Amino acid sequence: MAGKLYLVPTPIGNLGDISRRAAETLAEADFLAAEDTRVTVKLLNHLELKKPMVTYHRHNCDTAGPAILGRIQEGETCALVTDAGTPAISDPGEDLVALCAAAGVAVESIPGPCALTVALSVSGLPTGRFTFEGFLPLNKKNRRAQLEGLAEEERTMIFYEAPHKLRATLDDLADAFGPERPLAVCRELTKLHEEVLRLTLGEAVERYAAQEPRGEFVLVVGGRPAGEEPIEDGEDAALARVTQLRREGMPLKAAAAQAAEEFGVKRRMLYNRALKEENGAE
Ligand code: SAM
Repeated sequence: MAGKLYLVPTPIGNLGDISRRAAETLAEADFLAAEDTRVTVKLLNHLELKKPMVTYHRHNCDTAGPAILGRIQEGETCALVTDAGTPAISDPGEDLVALCAAAGVAVESIPGPCALTVALSVSGLPTGRFTFEGFLPLNKKNRRAQLEGLAEEERTMIFYEAPHKLRATLDDLADAFGPERPLAVCRELTKLHEEVLRLTLGEAVERYAAQEPRGEFVLVVGGRPAGEEPIEDGEDAALARVTQLRREGMPLKAAAAQAAEEFGVKRRMLYNRALKEENGAE
């Protein structure tokens, strides 16, 4: 009889978040498939467990996946773990689950820590409807296409990002959705230096221009308010520039003219939008 694949979530920072059921599943599995055995061994030490392990990560999944499936079909149980959080969510595992499902092998997911739900729940933004975007593509064209596809998104949006790419991503999000769009920057969740900043995209751009981003981040961005016109390409970045120049003390007319020149948008349109915004008419 075939065994089973268990998806076992692991803490995203606080070891106390491993559940009893997750620990029992790890203890009882015949073997573990781990993204990085050096990371998983620390968790096993904490749980005082010793288990046979194989690696399963994005660079070996083509060969490791069928090998793991073969062992499960022979009757073994496998617990899949990644470095942190829920396996298969922006993590290796998605392909293994699909492989097992296609082969008719049972897969059981143990509920537990997941950065996206922790961030969404603490964000203060609407949680009734949301879309998880994971990591934005690195390829400029694909990234732009993904952001353009979200221009009219009314649901709350959740993004994962690495610290060294945070500034570029905040810039791109501010360009795509406008500097006034609300955002929760959720940093180092469940850890000692956990921080949740609730601000606008424009404010976040400014903050991290002045401060090196450190730690792990989830960005939760408010959706487009129903009825609001989608922002045209370039306008948004130009408007953010006007705000910045205004904060530096430049008169509105001059700021609009300079930003219009820099971003190649219509001066009059930009001036009107900035004026509306300053008067709180939008
Ligand atoms: N499968 C994991 C999950 O859903 O929890 C996510 C794995 S993904 C490779 C790693 C990303 O999750 C990080 O780049 C960051 O965006 C987010 N993340 C993980 N732990 C975090 C934490 N403690 N605080 C904030 N973000 C975290």
